[in-house]
Amino acid sequence: MRQTVCRIASVSDGAILPAFDFAVRHQAIRMSALPPCPQCHSEFVYEDAGMYICPECAHEWSAQTSAASEPVAKVYRDSAGNVLHDGDTVTVIKDLKLKGGGGVVKMGTKVKNIRLVDADHDIDCKIDGFGAMSLKTEFVKKA
Ligand SMILES: [Zn+2]
Repeated sequence: MRQTVCRIASVSDGAILPAFDFAVRHQAIRMSALPPCPQCHSEFVYEDAGMYICPECAHEWSAQTSAASEPVAKVYRDSAGNVLHDGDTVTVIKDLKLKGGGGVVKMGTKVKNIRLVDADHDIDCKIDGFGAMSLKTEFVKKA
């Protein structure tokens, strides 16, 4: 197969060959699903801090309508209202019976290095002697 795009290197007057344009468009589509620039229709648009930026004409516009815009950070609070973060250590505030006769996580059990997840049981963690567990923030207190 002949690579017609290689010839672009010898074009010095700024003209864009149709073959080059075609190749660029295909590359851009593969690389990202960002919308083309509304001003110059460039497809090299990139996103930065919630803005779409066109490197070809320097046009910037809000990316807010896109699903890729900044997510609103969910705030997780323990039973006392303290804000929890990934990596925190918490204490279980009541005996938690495990489903299927898996035992009881006793009140006062320390749980290290929690990971907050957007789910009904919003803490993923590991508890010594129990392994991987999911807890609810309402049943723990920040240690
Ligand atoms: Zn542009």
